[in-house]
Amino acid sequence: MTVSEGTTGRVAGRALRPSAKVLPEQARGHNRALVLQTLHGAGRQSRADLARRTGLTRVTVSDLVAELMADGLVVELGHRESTGRGKPAILLEIDRGAFQIIGLDLSAYSVFRGAVLDLGGRLLSRSEVALDGSVGGEATAKVVALVETLIGQATAPILGIGVGSPGVVDDAGTVLDAPNLGWEHEELRKTLSQRFSLPAVVVNDANAAVLAEHSFGDAVGDMMLVKVGHGVGAGLLLGGVQFFGGRFAAGEIGHVVVGTDGLRCNCGKSGCLETWLATPRLDAALGAATTSAAREAVLREAGVRLALALAPIVSVLDLAEIVLSGPAEYLAGALTDAAVETLGDLTLARFRGTPAVRMTTLGDDIVLRGAAAMVLSEQLGFS
Ligand SMILES: [Zn+2]
Repeated sequence: MTVSEGTTGRVAGRALRPSAKVLPEQARGHNRALVLQTLHGAGRQSRADLARRTGLTRVTVSDLVAELMADGLVVELGHRESTGRGKPAILLEIDRGAFQIIGLDLSAYSVFRGAVLDLGGRLLSRSEVALDGSVGGEATAKVVALVETLIGQATAPILGIGVGSPGVVDDAGTVLDAPNLGWEHEELRKTLSQRFSLPAVVVNDANAAVLAEHSFGDAVGDMMLVKVGHGVGAGLLLGGVQFFGGRFAAGEIGHVVVGTDGLRCNCGKSGCLETWLATPRLDAALGAATTSAAREAVLREAGVRLALALAPIVSVLDLAEIVLSGPAEYLAGALTDAAVETLGDLTLARFRGTPAVRMTTLGDDIVLRGAAAMVLSEQLGFS
């Protein structure tokens, strides 16, 4: 099959889902991805169904299906029940077990988590390694060791390695800056692809999460995903395209100052969004709250500060949906309610309605699944 080694981790601004046929000179790879995307999105289809949905000719579809079957990516499922006229059609499906993907989430504070996933984004097995304060080269060695363990757990050929990392990650999969891991200009994609001779992709954890929501979650359209953990970051998906920014730092909202009455932040400023919303800050504030009313006040305050940071973004981009990822016991409930109320107060809700704020349905595996989705998108052209 055609698995590219790829010189860059991802292509900024590329549409994630092929949706229409294109000119002949670009056609084959695109049409192949279009057939896979259609099978991925719409489920079991006959060749005639695929031709109708994609706008490709039946001859082209048959040809592409033959190629995808030879690659082991598509299987025939037998005949659809006959409707009485003519020969019953043979249904096709993506063989989600044909290949496996190694996914890594480096965003947790004390542990690197990893999983083997199938092509449908389902977790097949897990492994993790304690960080024990490792930074720099030691942290990189733990990433390599974790991938090695996971490759040992895989039971099918591996399509690629996907990694969601904290910090700013460029389009070559180099972690430009991740202070908690002591990484500066860490060429993680290069290290992994060379060490394991597999395609690798490294993205910021919030960008991996937003892709997971797009591919496997309930996202409907333009969306901002706010990921709350040791820090606070966000991923943006606009018009079906992930938005990374010219310096790869789009969505870094954690250090936006949202009040002059805030605590000192790790970055040196005071009153950053993180000082109200990051998990360690919430742990501390909730730990000091002695009554349930005081606890609720802490959570509502965090929700208000989140809305202060989000209101201009929501207004500029006309966003209809904000998805939250992080500890549900903190984020769902009073915090979300306060954020929605404040967004309503601060934006032109009368005209377009208050944007929905909701928890992701993907839980704690969102970054692992997003890392896998990034490999699917890179290697097979669908997500
Ligand atoms: Zn800060």
